[in-house]
Amino acid sequence: MLTENLKNVQNHIEAACRRVGRDPGEVTLVAVSKTKPLEMIEELIPAGQLDFGENYVQELCSKDEQVSRPVNWHMIGHLQRNKVKYIVDKVKLIHSVDSLSLAEQIEKEAAKRSLTADILIQVNVAMEETKFGLGMKEVTDLLEKISLLPHVHVCGLMTSAPYVADPEENRCYFQKLHKLFVDIRAKNIDNIDMKILSMGMTNDYEIAVEEGSTMVRVGTGIFGERNYNR
Ligand SMILES: *Cc1c(COP(=O)(O)O)cnc(C)c1O
Repeated sequence: MLTENLKNVQNHIEAACRRVGRDPGEVTLVAVSKTKPLEMIEELIPAGQLDFGENYVQELCSKDEQVSRPVNWHMIGHLQRNKVKYIVDKVKLIHSVDSLSLAEQIEKEAAKRSLTADILIQVNVAMEETKFGLGMKEVTDLLEKISLLPHVHVCGLMTSAPYVADPEENRCYFQKLHKLFVDIRAKNIDNIDMKILSMGMTNDYEIAVEEGSTMVRVGTGIFGERNYNR
């Protein structure tokens, strides 16, 4: 069942790529496994799914300890500074950096372990009050500061679009972030890469792919609805 859902999402990504003349190999699917048991992750590994998204530090660490083979963990949820130390050497990519103080904490913990942490800058494109992320106008300024941190490597941008009934409503936000992504890339800032654009969730990933996303984060579409009151 889960592998069928996975295949189905992969097919939709491929179709979206075809519609706009993109190579499906440019798009990484992160299966968002937050709140879901490790057994569900284990079911997808033989199907070749190795990228998993988690929101909670404790849950990520416990799954990392128990998983049967190494996988690529993506920290996609809001990250508190005092929790950085638990995950910095376990995750492939931190998607949710939205302040200099968080980046500095990542720098400190990465330096201690002599590693370079790959991160994305989270942008609140729709300026929703309930969401983390910084405004579009603040991105370049923050990037220039983070570029000076030797153990932090910015790989691109991330956003979560609003929850809407018709995902077409989010197309404009994906277009805006893609444009910012391209504009920043053209500036060639030292130590800043613009190669990953993380946007698109179950409700809107096809639109996001049409608008240039290189990484989609799909939870419900693969694992089913989440129950937070377990
Ligand atoms: C939970 C979550 C997702 C996955 O959401 P679905 O709608 O279940 O696909 C993606 N990105 C972030 C940041 C999330 O918190």
